[in-house]
Formats: sequence, C-alpha cells, structure tokens
Amino acid sequence: MSQFTRRNFLKLSGAAAAVSTFACSTAPAIASNKKRVVVVGGGIGGATAAKYLRLMDSSIEVTLIEANKDYYTCFMSNEVLSGERDIDNIKFGYSGLKGHGVTVVHAKVTGIDADKQRVMTDSGDTFAYDRCIVSPGVSFRYDLIEGYDETVAETIPHAWKAGSQTVTLRKQLEAMQDGGTVVIAPPPNPFRCPPGPYERASQIAHYLKSHKPKSKLLIVDPKPAFSKKGLFEAGWRKYYGYGTSNAMIEWHSTPSGSDDNVLKELDASTKTIMTGFNEYKADVLNIIPAQTAGMIAKTAGLTDNSGWCPVNMMTFESTLQKNIHVIGDAAIQSPLPKSGYAANSEAKVCVSAIIALLNDMQVPQPSYVNTCYSVIHPGDGISVAAVYRYNNATGKVESVEGSGGLTPGYDDTTMEMRAREEQYAHSWFNNITADVFS
Ligand SMILES: Cc1cc2nc3c(=O)[nH]c(=O)nc-3n(C[C@H](O)[C@H](O)[C@H](O)COP(=O)(O)OP(=O)(O)OC[C@H]3O[C@@H](n4cnc5c(N)ncnc54)[C@H](O)[C@@H]3O)c2cc1C
Repeated sequence: MSQFTRRNFLKLSGAAAAVSTFACSTAPAIASNKKRVVVVGGGIGGATAAKYLRLMDSSIEVTLIEANKDYYTCFMSNEVLSGERDIDNIKFGYSGLKGHGVTVVHAKVTGIDADKQRVMTDSGDTFAYDRCIVSPGVSFRYDLIEGYDETVAETIPHAWKAGSQTVTLRKQLEAMQDGGTVVIAPPPNPFRCPPGPYERASQIAHYLKSHKPKSKLLIVDPKPAFSKKGLFEAGWRKYYGYGTSNAMIEWHSTPSGSDDNVLKELDASTKTIMTGFNEYKADVLNIIPAQTAGMIAKTAGLTDNSGWCPVNMMTFESTLQKNIHVIGDAAIQSPLPKSGYAANSEAKVCVSAIIALLNDMQVPQPSYVNTCYSVIHPGDGISVAAVYRYNNATGKVESVEGSGGLTPGYDDTTMEMRAREEQYAHSWFNNITADVFS
C-alpha cells in the first residue's frame, strides 16, 4: 500500500529547500503497485535524489549504485588545501540514506539499457527500473594535453574530484620550499564549479602567505574572464599584493580567439607546462583539465556532440533516451551552473517530476536555486546567488528578476558583512551535507 499522498507530496516538496513550486491542478492520484527507480552515482545530485524519492513516496523502491564507499565533497576541499580543514571533515558515508530505506549498492555501473530499462554493473548484477536517474558528475579530457593522463594525475593532481588527490596536493604544498612557484591551470568553459579554481588560488595563497611568504602562485588560464572576477581580484589586491611588483598571485589570461595560455603539453619530469605561447615551470603543479559528462553518460548514449547531456529542464528526462533522467554536472542545465547546490536543487525538481509521472499526475511547475560561496581569506567570504524558474512558453529556464545577486565590493560593504558571508559559507556546507547524506 502506498504511503504516498497528495498532502505528503506537497508538504515535502515545499520543504525541499524551497526549490520547487507545484501546480495547483496536480491530480491526487495514488499509485498502488511498487515502482522502481535506480539512481546511478551517489554524489550530491544522486544522493539527494535517492533520499528525496523515499521521503516523498516511500512506496518507491530506490536503489542507489555508487562506485565508492565514501564520498568526499568537492566543496570545502580548497580549505583542506590551505590547512583550514581536515580531509575527514569532508568525508560522508551512506548510512543515512540506508536509514531512509534506500538500497545502496557499491559497484561501478558499466551500462544502461534504455530499451530493456535496466542498469548493469561491473559485479555482473542487473537492476531493472521504471525510471533511472543518472548523476555521474564529470570526466576529464586528458587527451587534450600531451603528456597528461589518469596515471600522471596521481602525482600531478587535478584534485577536481575530492579525495586522495586533495591529500596529495596538500602534501606537495607542505613539502614545497619557501620561494617556490605554484601553478594552477584552470580548465576552459564549461566546467564544474566556475569560481572553484579562483577560490583555490585564494586558499593556497593564504597558506603560502602564512607559511612560505616568498612563494608565488601563477594562474595560467585559457580564458579572458572568470566567475566573480572583480570580487576575487579586489580580494587578491587586499591580501596578496595582486597587481603589484610583489604580487603573490598572478593571473595569466588568454584573450578571446587566442591560445596564449591554453595548455597544450606537460613535461611531467620537470613540472613544466607549454601553452599556445608560453612555458611555465612549477614546483607544485595543479592542472585542472577540460571536462565532459561522467563516462557512463557517454556509454549510455546520453551525451550529444558537446559531451554533455541534453535534458528537458522541467523533468530532467534525457532528450536522447526515454525514462532516463540526468541531473548535476553531467546535464546541460544552463543557466544553472555546474555546482553542488544546483545539483541538489535539480535532484529535487527531478524527483518531484518522477513521482508525478509514476503516479499519473501533472508534473509540477519547477523553480531552482543556487548560491556559490567562496572564501578569499579567513574572515572574508563572497557569494553569487540566483533563483530560476521554468518558462512554459519558451521551454527554457530563466533567472527570476530581482532575485539573488552578488556580494558588494569593499567600498559598498563592511568587513563584518564579509565575515558573515564566510560564516554563511560554512553553515551552508553543514546544511547541504546534512540535507544530502543524513
Ligand atoms: C574545488 C571545488 C570546489 C567546489 N565548491 C563548490 C561550492 O562551494 N558550492 C557548490 O555548490 N559546488 C561546489 N563545487 C561543485 C560540486 O562539487 C559539484 O557541482 C557537485 O559535486 C556535482 O554533483 P554531481 O552529483 O553532478 O556529481 P558528483 O558529486 O561528482 O557525484 C558523482 C558520483 O557518481 C559516481 N559515479 C560516476 N560514475 C559512476 C559509475 N559508472 N558507477 C557508479 N558510480 C559512478 C562517482 O563516484 C560520484 O560519487 C565544487 C567543486 C570543486 C571541484
């Protein structure tokens, strides 16, 4: 007997961090037969989806298939690099989800058969589904950088999936002599967490300033601009001498249409990178390669020529494969960014749609939310926030006018407000990880 009721549906969907607004005409149909949803990937998108499916309709059998036993959040991993946080502080397990009745399977998904509606794993098991949710995150285009591959990345880490590479990069920073050079090579757009490389630069510079003040940090960027650029640059001027002859942080950009600082080749033995026009030698090198949807999305025929997954943003159902929904970084979800907060919001919209579809109800009218925090220096945080809604007329998602915004610059704010932004960033971390994994 289903425990799913229209009242519960509305109550829980309203509680879902205010991300989804439901049509008043939603029909009160109640399903009686057990439906199966298989979720591929237990990161931010997938774990949120699995938990909220069970919370919103406990009659659904939910199986979450995740390759790893522990999940390390990428958010706040830059604070592990600066030594402000320990790696165990960003580690989460799946017992909370099991407590909600999610069946958690640790295996690698090797294929999804959209016609037969089943998921295959490397342990030889097969899981049938009525609907499948795929949230595999990103994979990396090592092939675009001569001399770089998955094996080299173990010693010249991208650390763009948090975990052992985060620890490796931290140890390399600790081992570096004062006066050394750290090089960060951010990826081209689009990529996971647009402000992430620049927050990383800020956090590493904070560590260097306190422990190795003669060192330098070069950002070798294939782009002419980046997220929250004005706010980051002002912070770097304030704390790290940016723009002066004594700057700790230097940003080496690439004008549009040029390949000046587009990374082409790596000599791993000397930690030297060659770009279209320049050569940089590092003591600690952090290459963040170009990205596409997680590999399983490609294997399952969910990606288009861009390497990402086209979806109907009302339901997150793939436009290429029926009954499969793609959420999180792997999806083409513009104007939402590839962020954990957005993945969490998309998961709730997707779950609401799936429950409606499985119960022959009208799909609710979605809205979505995102905030990206970055900590430039202890006591100095910044953020960009937006609320989005689905436009039925255009079939597109657009920002809600007057919603969200950007932290003001130093002239229009106080350090007390900036300190509060840092506190919000840390409390956001506590809240979202509890929302996803508890
Ligand atoms: C340094 C850094 C800082 C960041 N800071 C922020 C921030 O402050 N705020 C914010 O909102 N976002 C931030 N992000 C972005 C955020 O981490 C991602 O957007 C978010 O994790 C995306 O969620 P996802 O579910 O798409 O992918 P993930 O969280 O990466 O989850 C994917 C999961 O799928 C699993 N998987 C993949 N393939 C398979 C397979 N074949 N079989 C089984 N399992 C599989 C993986 O093991 C993984 O657990 C940051 C990212 C980085 C790198």
